[in-house]
Amino acid sequence: MSDTSSAKEEIKRAADIVQVIGQYVQLKKAGKNFMGLCPFHAEKAPSFTVSPDRQMFHCFGCKKGGDVFAFWMEYHGVTFPEALKDLAERYNITITETFSSGEEKERTRIRETLFNINEIAAQYFQEALGQSGGNPAVEYLKKRALPKEIISEFRLGYAPDAWDGLTNFLKNRRIDMKRAAEAGLIIPKKGGGYYDRFRGRVIFPIFNLRSQVIGFGGRVLNDALPKYLNTPETLLFHKGEFPYGLHASHKAIRERGVTVIVEGYMDLLALRKHGLQEVVATLGTALTHDHIRKIKGYAGEAIVVFDSDEAGRVAALRSLPLFLNEGLSARAVVLPHGHDPDSFVNKNGLSPFLALLEKGAPLFDFFLDQKLSGGGDSIEGKVTVLKEILPILAQLQNRAQRSLYAGRLSERIGIKEDVILSELKAAAKGLSEGGLQKDLKDRMAASSAKQRIGDVQLLNLLVHHPIAVSGLLDTDCTKLLTDATTSQIVKRIFENYRQGGRFSPERLEESLESEEVRIRLREALVADSIYSDHEVKQAVREIEEKVRQTKMTNLIKAAGGDPEALNRVLLELKAQEARNH
Ligand SMILES: [Zn+2]
Repeated sequence: MSDTSSAKEEIKRAADIVQVIGQYVQLKKAGKNFMGLCPFHAEKAPSFTVSPDRQMFHCFGCKKGGDVFAFWMEYHGVTFPEALKDLAERYNITITETFSSGEEKERTRIRETLFNINEIAAQYFQEALGQSGGNPAVEYLKKRALPKEIISEFRLGYAPDAWDGLTNFLKNRRIDMKRAAEAGLIIPKKGGGYYDRFRGRVIFPIFNLRSQVIGFGGRVLNDALPKYLNTPETLLFHKGEFPYGLHASHKAIRERGVTVIVEGYMDLLALRKHGLQEVVATLGTALTHDHIRKIKGYAGEAIVVFDSDEAGRVAALRSLPLFLNEGLSARAVVLPHGHDPDSFVNKNGLSPFLALLEKGAPLFDFFLDQKLSGGGDSIEGKVTVLKEILPILAQLQNRAQRSLYAGRLSERIGIKEDVILSELKAAAKGLSEGGLQKDLKDRMAASSAKQRIGDVQLLNLLVHHPIAVSGLLDTDCTKLLTDATTSQIVKRIFENYRQGGRFSPERLEESLESEEVRIRLREALVADSIYSDHEVKQAVREIEEKVRQTKMTNLIKAAGGDPEALNRVLLELKAQEARNH
């Protein structure tokens, strides 16, 4: 066994998949499995399934699935060797060397280099902040009254106002300058050489959920523009992917069941200074699907704090469809005029801020209020609001939720509920490009499911009752299968069994070539067993009988009109019946 596969085995034994995924997704027990909202696609009703028995996950919506490594890679956006390393570290398992494909190895190596360069740069910025002597960043942070503990926890730093500060520092450390440029820290000059991207700014390192530095944000210390500068898109940093501060806040968010979302670095740090831990920041970008998917893994509710200016209002209105689509309930809080969370909490303390959160209106009501107050109380205004909101509601798949909102809309706008519901229906129809076509699709899917029922039962029997594998090994039961995908899996089950003498779902999954086939297998593995233990023998007998019947039918067909051949078949049938009774 290679070192990787033994380490892999050991990690799988140590790292319970429910526990690992449960750190990022809220899971609820459902029968023998756990269910939650999928972190990989938009959904309001859980179809993301984690099976402790199989140590695997599968989403019936987007079909993503696999073992604990597959989850880690997909969720954190890392390569297999990185996932192996992360999990090994968490569970104190030593790996001496990792093996993987050349391409994956190369990607991992580059990512590691970039992480390393970011780490060195973060230390450089931190040290520069520590240097005394009229340091304007120190003055700035002093004015904002940030305590030392927070400055060091979030590793704030200072980029001196020079063109070659970090450039020279990295050069002296013999860092590959091309890679430092790829990390977004330095920029190539036209005539050769490099210069610093961040100059004369307070530096806020940005962390992923593994607390590694993926990028930096820098705020100016004078009136220069832009006020905020971020790392550009790199192999590690993607704008709008991680809410800032989640690496530090996720425990508190889970404990309180709510996430407070603010805009800026200083908003978040000021709130934490005053003791509010369950907070993340969007860093000037609008909220994204990615943000919300990450957040909803920790808490069922979000409170979004908006500035009272026009941009804040617009952001609040834009975020409604995102929250509705991701099934995360949200409330909106608008601060008094002229305030952001930083200034508000520093002036008034935490209690008045918490009181504002307490009073936050559901985002949907906030949306309506805002729209209607903007001159929307006229008939034309109401029609405009309806036109805007109906397509959003029509996207909601949850019927109960849809009619709930329709009711609220009716109350608020003063239009009869059945009018709204029928408008909603029309809007929904418009969305699905002709409802008829969709109906047809559903019916086709249902009929093909019926044809497959024999296949489904056989596969279910084999994966849940390994004893049936040995019972059916020497029959021609694969001939009963009508579906090519299932047939591939079943044939492979028998092949593996012949080679290894036992049934191993894991080896089976690895031996399947296409993702489509693997998806079918995962769905069978996480599904409930159709047969109870004492029904297995009977099921095996029934399948044997079916195989025999099919064989006979084929023989009779093959005999055609030849009376002699037909006679032989009938004799064989009789002999078999005699054997059976
Ligand atoms: Zn999914």
